[in-house]
Amino acid sequence: MTNQSKYLITLASPRGFCAGVERAIQTVKVALKEHGSPVYVLHEIVHNKHVIADLQSGGAVFVESLEQIPKGEVCIFSAHGISVATEKRAADYGLKTIDATCPLVSSVHRMVEKYHDDGCNIIIIGHHKHPEVEGTAGRVPDSVFIVSSPEEAKRLQLPDYKDVAFVTQTTLAKNDIEQVLTVLQRRFPNLKGPKSNICFATQNRQNAARDLAKKATVILVVGSKNSSNSNRLKEVGIECGVQAYLIDDFKDIDSTWFENVHKIGVTAGASAPESLVEGVVSWMVKNLINCKIVEMDGAVEEIHFKPATITN
Ligand code: SF4
Repeated sequence: MTNQSKYLITLASPRGFCAGVERAIQTVKVALKEHGSPVYVLHEIVHNKHVIADLQSGGAVFVESLEQIPKGEVCIFSAHGISVATEKRAADYGLKTIDATCPLVSSVHRMVEKYHDDGCNIIIIGHHKHPEVEGTAGRVPDSVFIVSSPEEAKRLQLPDYKDVAFVTQTTLAKNDIEQVLTVLQRRFPNLKGPKSNICFATQNRQNAARDLAKKATVILVVGSKNSSNSNRLKEVGIECGVQAYLIDDFKDIDSTWFENVHKIGVTAGASAPESLVEGVVSWMVKNLINCKIVEMDGAVEEIHFKPATITN
């Protein structure tokens, strides 16, 4: 590779759509086919603006509250999961509901319900206001506490007559969880819980981003700004000592990022379609002289979930 004229573009593997996102998108497409347009989706089905625009053009209507949906219509719950209260309100409004909650998020819900039945205080390690965390917290009526940082873990006040258990958001980074857990375990020595609830897809993409950082000095992460797992991929790159940028698509690329840079890595968050990665690669082929594209080996993901159908 000569100094000025050649760029090595390395693509991480795996990258992009995970099994839960594929299922959620398929669920909307199948619902549109079976029930016709419109079908209503409560919140963004997955956090990617291109996916949302594509489904909107097919007849999906995204709403932020159940009150926006006419009685008797089809309502799809997003991949991030929802609270029991939302499920009940949807039933009260007479909506036909389809639950596209990722099965891996649902398994965290079951864990929270079990800890609640066992009489525990439950700590969710995750981001406040993130729909997955809000849905998980809303699976039980009380005794749930959200902690997003070691500082919050230090300040947390719990009724001391109950056992304490924890779960985590599925799209966090292992390091972030460990820092919070260290504090919680010191404060609550009998703390119960899994190692983490980071899902296999999140873990695989973070591992791949770490490997990518060994082969690149600048990493582009394709994903929307509100995508938790995409933000974590950017952070993994930065932790590994490379420049990392989160971009929605090729239009966000700034060519000054590549001044004196010859090794570029590209990955994509779990909600970003491969077509956007292809757009980024095409931009590079067109705008950077003499690109060589290589794809890394990585974990092979063979898990797929069937689309969800009407539950009531
Ligand atoms: Fe499911 Fe993991 Fe994908 Fe979230 S990132 S939708 S938990 S597979």
